[in-house]
Amino acid sequence: MEGNKRWVDGNLHHPDRDPDRRQLVAQTQEPYGVVLSCIDSRVPPELLFDTGLGDLYVLRTGAQAVGPVVTGSVEYGPMTSGTPLIVVLGHQRCGAVEASYKAMRDGATLPGNLQAIADALRPAYDQAVRLDGSDPVDTMTRAQIRLTANDLRSNKDLGPLVKKGSLAVVGAYYSLDTGRVEILGGAPS
Ligand SMILES: [Zn+2]
Repeated sequence: MEGNKRWVDGNLHHPDRDPDRRQLVAQTQEPYGVVLSCIDSRVPPELLFDTGLGDLYVLRTGAQAVGPVVTGSVEYGPMTSGTPLIVVLGHQRCGAVEASYKAMRDGATLPGNLQAIADALRPAYDQAVRLDGSDPVDTMTRAQIRLTANDLRSNKDLGPLVKKGSLAVVGAYYSLDTGRVEILGGAPS
C-alpha cells in the first residue's frame, strides 16, 4: 500500500530493479505476496504497487477469473514457501466483467474461449443482479473480487493457513481514474 501511495503521488522508487537485485534472486526467490489481477493493460501490479524483481508472484486473467490451473498457481507460494499474502485485485471499468455482464443479461454466448470467463463470473453476476445497484458492472466487479477472495480464503488448502494467521487473502479494487488501490476486505488487523 505504501508503494501504491507512491504510484498515486507520482513519487516512484522503482525498488529491486538493478543488476544487484537480479543476482541476489537468481538462485532463489522469496516474494512477499501473490497478486491475482486482470489482464487489462492499465493494471500492472508491479507498477501500481511500485515493486521490483522477486517481490511478487503475479497472475493475470480476464476479470481475474480463476479455474484449477490459476488457483493452483495462486496456492504455489503460500503452500510451498509460506508466502504470507494474496491480493485479488479487480479494477474500475473492467471490459471482461462488462462483456460477461452483457452476455449473461442478454442470454448470449461470448465467442470461443471467452465464454469460459463469463462462466467463471456467473456467481458475481448473480450477486450483482440481486444487489441491483445503479452501476451493475461495477457492482459485479466488486462482487467478483469478494467472492474470489472468499473462495481462496476458505478453500481446503489455504483455509488452514488463514486460520493459523500465517496467510491473509485481501480483496482490493483499483481505480483507473486515480491509481489508488482500495481494500475491500481481508486485510490483517
Ligand atoms: Zn479487467
